[in-house]
Amino acid sequence: MKSCIFCKIVNGDSPASKVYEDDLCLAFMDIQPVNPGHVLVVPKAHFTDLTDLPAHIGSHLFQVAQRITLSLPNTGVKSEGVDLFLAHGEAAGQDVFHVHLHVIPRYEGDGFGFRFGPNYSNLPERSELDAIATQIKYEMEK
Ligand code: AMP
Ligand code: ZN
Repeated sequence: MKSCIFCKIVNGDSPASKVYEDDLCLAFMDIQPVNPGHVLVVPKAHFTDLTDLPAHIGSHLFQVAQRITLSLPNTGVKSEGVDLFLAHGEAAGQDVFHVHLHVIPRYEGDGFGFRFGPNYSNLPERSELDAIATQIKYEMEK
């Protein structure tokens, strides 16, 4: 897609610090890292989000992210743990609408983290968990 920044990177029309490349995907350094060593893994073809992403490419992105994660302890990147993060949709924080999996090195005191909503400490009743589980299960099995 012409106007897509990640397509431009894949096509060599925009600069990137490449980490890994194969037929299906490209991994490169995030331009505004949460922590040093923050990598993005993107499919080479343009898919917007999980809606149009073929499952085998999603699996491949995850496998590459796993390999990047496991390489980090042998690099100079400070990494006591790693968050893999994929924003599906604007409400979930997706800014670039070419699907991408974040590999974010984490360490104690890095200041990054999820912010929980005001109801987070109120645990739902089991009946509520069961009701939602039933709905999702039904939709998945359709
Ligand atoms: P998201 O908010 O999940 O859509 O993440 C988009 C990510 O893309 C952000 O972390 C940006 O810093 C990163 N990003 C945007 N443009 C570029 C670029 N040209 N090169 C590398 N990373 C980029
Ligand atoms: Zn794209």
